[in-house]
Amino acid sequence: MSRISKDDRRLQLQKEAEGNHLYANRIRVYPKTVHGVVRRTKWVILIVCLTLYYLAPWLRWNRGPGRPSQAILLDISHERFYFFNLELWPQDIWLLAGLLIMGAVFLFLVTSLFGRLWCGYTCPQTVWTDLFMWIEQWVEGDRNERMQRDAAPLNADTIWKKVLKHSIWLIIAWWTGGAWIMYYVDAPTVTLQFWTGQASNQVYFFTWLFTLTTYLLGGWAREQVCTYMCPWPRFQAAMLDDQSFTVTYQGWRGEPRMRGKRTETGPSGGDCIDCGACVTACPTGIDIRDGIQLECINCGLCIDACNHVMERTKQDKWLITWDTLARQAAKKSGVHEAIKIIRPRTIVYLTVLLVAMSGLTFALVTRSTLGLSVLRDRAPVFVPLGDGSLRNGYTIKIANKTSSVAAFDLSVDGLPGALLTVAEGDPKPVPVLQLPSASDEVDTFRVLVTARPKALADGSQPVDFVLRDSVTGKQTIYHSTFMGPQNYGANR
Ligand code: SF4
Ligand code: SF4
Repeated sequence: MSRISKDDRRLQLQKEAEGNHLYANRIRVYPKTVHGVVRRTKWVILIVCLTLYYLAPWLRWNRGPGRPSQAILLDISHERFYFFNLELWPQDIWLLAGLLIMGAVFLFLVTSLFGRLWCGYTCPQTVWTDLFMWIEQWVEGDRNERMQRDAAPLNADTIWKKVLKHSIWLIIAWWTGGAWIMYYVDAPTVTLQFWTGQASNQVYFFTWLFTLTTYLLGGWAREQVCTYMCPWPRFQAAMLDDQSFTVTYQGWRGEPRMRGKRTETGPSGGDCIDCGACVTACPTGIDIRDGIQLECINCGLCIDACNHVMERTKQDKWLITWDTLARQAAKKSGVHEAIKIIRPRTIVYLTVLLVAMSGLTFALVTRSTLGLSVLRDRAPVFVPLGDGSLRNGYTIKIANKTSSVAAFDLSVDGLPGALLTVAEGDPKPVPVLQLPSASDEVDTFRVLVTARPKALADGSQPVDFVLRDSVTGKQTIYHSTFMGPQNYGANR
């Protein structure tokens, strides 16, 4: 009995079992190792992705004394995100959101052009599953050996191999979880603290949490994450059309299938010899010859498997290939159709991407290194003074996003004769208040503003707080109000 027949039998048994259950049991997938250009490309991408992931937290970046020296750091405790020379504050979170939106639109564009390239090559789930499967194959043998081992009763050799496989999986998962933590805390420091038992409980907790997550998703759940858990396959169909490149079985060339070995003198038929090599190579356990399916992550391993078969049977390679549905339909009719990269949807995605990129670049370049927020006191709303003037209190927050100490001038526009003083500071009111600000800090001051507004018809007067860097001359304005009794000044 051929291998595909065994698979057919398994599916038949599965369907019989499903008849008695509300939910189908998982059919375990035992992908067969393949060799070829796609597999080699996937290895290269996997190595690049993993190297970047594990080593990036160890990259150093000199930001001056007292500041983090890690190139990429999401410093949650100090509310900062560092990416080489770029430093984002919580106020800049919209930039991060813009970056994510840009990434999403880029993914839309890539998907509309090349299908699920992300899923098949760079998605973390694919990368780690690939790595875990390679370890499984290295320890337990290739597909047939693994299937036989799992079907047979447990013995010492199987136990030893399973223990070894899971141990290696757990070490990689732990390494992965630990590396993730290093994006949030200084890598060398936390490594030392981890091994000397001085790291925080959160570090230990999240390291083990991510270890467990990686182990379960990469080792156990595997293709089920792509098929059942990930939302991306559900809506990526909206980005695809018949001009998108996907892994495609060229049915016009392969059908009718000829089970067994094809010979040049044999009966005329398609190039597919129904060997099932493409099915057994598939990490999601599907048959690409059934057309585009939700489970297909476009990894292209079935291409390698089929190319190998085509080589052996001395036929043209690429029976399974990357192509568009439109080109396949044209080829079936013997017509050549050109690749159409420029289409309405790719134009829309590209335009949105370019606009978002330009906007984000402009926002980054012109981003102010100075932040000001003003919060007026609610109680008391105002204080009438003995000389007839009014006093309002404000909480002023100054964000100095530079790496040097700065001196600022604070004044109030729209309120002639306004005098300012810092509560608990020099009591002498002045028109322009001088405020120092530490580098890379948010400083808070309570400022009292005294004035005699001309008239407060509805009890309020709009004012502008103007903050000016006394060295660079850069300034920022915050709109606020000055409060007093209704009709203040009307009768004076
Ligand atoms: S059908 Fe081919 S491209 Fe799709 S997931 Fe399976 S092996 Fe990868
Ligand atoms: S590997 Fe190629 S020849 Fe074999 S079943 Fe798949 S498509 Fe047909």
